[in-house]
Amino acid sequence: MLEAVPTIIETLFLGKSIGRRLAFAPHLPRALVKHVSLAQFRATLEWVNQRSAFYRERFRAAGIEPKRIRRPEDLGDFFTTSADLRERPTEDFVCAKPEAGFETTGTTARNKRVYFSNEEVRDIGYEGAVGLWNLGLRPEDRVVDAFDYAFWNAGITLLHSLERVGCFHVIASKLPPEEFYERVREYRFNVLIVDTAWLVTLTEIAARRGTWPVKFILSGSENMAEATRQWVESVWRAKVYQAYGQTESLGATGVECPRQRGYHLNEVNFYFEILHPNAEGYGELVFTTLTRKVMPFIRYRSNDITRLLPDCDCPLRSMRRIDKIVGRADEIISCGMGMISPWIFETWFGGVPGLADDWQVAVTQPGPRDVLELRLETTEGAEPRAVQAALERELEQRFPYYYKNYRMGMYDLRFVFLPRGTLRPAGPRRKLRRVLDERIPAAAVAARD
Ligand SMILES: [Zn+2]
Repeated sequence: MLEAVPTIIETLFLGKSIGRRLAFAPHLPRALVKHVSLAQFRATLEWVNQRSAFYRERFRAAGIEPKRIRRPEDLGDFFTTSADLRERPTEDFVCAKPEAGFETTGTTARNKRVYFSNEEVRDIGYEGAVGLWNLGLRPEDRVVDAFDYAFWNAGITLLHSLERVGCFHVIASKLPPEEFYERVREYRFNVLIVDTAWLVTLTEIAARRGTWPVKFILSGSENMAEATRQWVESVWRAKVYQAYGQTESLGATGVECPRQRGYHLNEVNFYFEILHPNAEGYGELVFTTLTRKVMPFIRYRSNDITRLLPDCDCPLRSMRRIDKIVGRADEIISCGMGMISPWIFETWFGGVPGLADDWQVAVTQPGPRDVLELRLETTEGAEPRAVQAALERELEQRFPYYYKNYRMGMYDLRFVFLPRGTLRPAGPRRKLRRVLDERIPAAAVAARD
């Protein structure tokens, strides 16, 4: 009965109106949200124990009896990780017939696959509509979306959100920014929904050639530096908001508060925890799905370092807020190139003559655009210009997706050639960190250690 409370509230009081739902949201008692969440959590635990080969096996190995567990914290050090998703067949997680599938790209040789039912995708889109309404989206607005649709969920979820709000929209998908600019100009779209790094290039074009009246811009998929946001806002004379999510959460972990300070968590569909917070409250965000039947996750480690913020005063205040993501729990970094990890560079550099074994890649941000500084040790007599040309060719052939982003100006490459033996630190811990995020503030580094 309790599990059905949101549905009853929706049916009796809210109907399909997003506006009414948002007007009701501040009056939603936190205790009720928590109570319903925990009931849904227990039902999910039973569900995966009955139907998922992965969870059944892991629970047994860890001596976990689902019936005795009241809340996620009771599971101690039991988690689901992205390595589990990559290493186990997707079918081991699937508990009901899938109808939609998405992938996360680029982090390792094998992409993670996550499956959903159509209803689950629609529901998440509905929650997304509430967040968009909170940012000011209304039925009379005209929206264009420039998301990349290949294997990615963001565009489909957005489509359901826009359907609920009922505004005019066009799917442009991720075109080269110049072409996008030319083609959308005459439509006078007043809401742009785009990819963060791509927006920087579009804004450079708009700064040269002119803008049109825009109500707000929503950018997904990455963290944007505040200085970049301010610059983009000044060019378009419009607010820039960000969404936060991963494919594992169907891109719907949270949407930014209109105050531009943190993301309101989607506590209707997820139970969130901050793992091992440091003195400032920073730790890894972990989530459990509450409403998914096809491929639920129990305590999924997001890898993102953040902290909870104090309550705010906007209509979504009954949903807690997290701060900006300050870093990754391991070396997977989201930047203008995409999601990058050491594996990519090992593969990219591996076949290039003239390179020695040691290398390091740092993501830096000297201006609005991410710059990947490739610190490469070369063999004796190697000619830097020839090595660089070979590297560019190799990138194009092996990683067309990253090469496309490079050609689109979503990030720059800086080649630094070094004599052999310069990168690896001296001393007993001769471990070389392969991929560094040099954009990260000190707080994140403290949280990791
Ligand atoms: Zn807020």
